[in-house]
Amino acid sequence: MFLAAALNESKAAGVTLIMDHRLLDILACPICKGPLVLQREAAALVCRADRLAFPIKDDIPMMLEEEARVLSSDDPLLAR
Ligand SMILES: [Zn+2]
Repeated sequence: MFLAAALNESKAAGVTLIMDHRLLDILACPICKGPLVLQREAAALVCRADRLAFPIKDDIPMMLEEEARVLSSDDPLLAR
């Protein structure tokens, strides 16, 4: 499965993933439909294109634009 392969790649890059099907199903930005970067320590899913951080509360991502935090261009969440 393509998604599983992609996730394994992310894991190899040092990203700790939440193994939650609800989360894995929606790993795309609701605004630009682009890929999201999971920032586990910040409990956020980051869209680098929109510079938005969607918070994860109780392991449930808040995928609403109004819940998202706008990141400045030098925000460490935008770095790998
Ligand atoms: Zn986006």
